[in-house]
Amino acid sequence: MKSSKNMTIAFLLNFSFAILEFVFGLLFNSSAVLADAVHDTGDALAIGLSTFFEQISNKKEDGNYTLGYKRYSLLGALLTSVILIFGSIMVIIENVPKVFAPEKVNYDGMLVLGIVAIVVNLAASRVVSHGHSHNESILSLHFLEDILGWVAVILVSIVLRFTDWYFLDPLLSLLIAGFILSQALPKCWDNIKIFLDHVPSDVDLSRLYGEVLAVENVQAVTQLNVWTTDGLEKFAMIHICLENPALLAETQNTLRQELQAYGITKATIQTDESQEKHEECCLGGE
Ligand SMILES: [Zn+2]
Repeated sequence: MKSSKNMTIAFLLNFSFAILEFVFGLLFNSSAVLADAVHDTGDALAIGLSTFFEQISNKKEDGNYTLGYKRYSLLGALLTSVILIFGSIMVIIENVPKVFAPEKVNYDGMLVLGIVAIVVNLAASRVVSHGHSHNESILSLHFLEDILGWVAVILVSIVLRFTDWYFLDPLLSLLIAGFILSQALPKCWDNIKIFLDHVPSDVDLSRLYGEVLAVENVQAVTQLNVWTTDGLEKFAMIHICLENPALLAETQNTLRQELQAYGITKATIQTDESQEKHEECCLGGE
């Protein structure tokens, strides 16, 4: 309850401030502020969507979702990264030409907004740092990191006060967009891989195969599928041929313990029934 209340406050802070950034970014003609607005919109969406989808993902499996709702927790992260990628590409398209044909910006406005932004980020970081969940501590740190972007905005505004190097503003927006992309692209790809049933990133499949094969009574491994619903919960489907089929239950128990070490908590383990494979491996040696 408390966690979701903190997250709601952090969301509202970020979202309302992101809107202000878009308005003042346009008023001050500052590309760097607009790029930060894209970033903060992403932060707000990440918090809002993850809180929303988290509730669905905790529902128990039912007749509609026999594997449970865990994958819903990925949807928020996927949507957020797609929006961030789209937003930063827009910033890049808009601002590459501006570096070569810079426009005047309101550096006084940038300075004031930069100071307000640092206060808002400190406040948001404080709000979530009171929480205890893993998400909250990541978020608290993230808000502190975001201050660096605003320090850069303030530095540029100070330089512009004494010079006419207006190209610095679009240049900074490109740096911010590049930074957003460098974070959002790998995150997006990691999520897509989970939706495509890629082997979990922390499971070494060939090692697992070797360990299953090394279990007593296992003669051959004819099928080994490992996947994850949400990057945390892992499943396996294993087909084996046994030296002594009567000891199936014991072998299954040993295997389940081996799988625990890989974080695989749900596994279907059975002897291979398909005629072709059965002859190939189970009768082949006789
Ligand atoms: Zn951020």
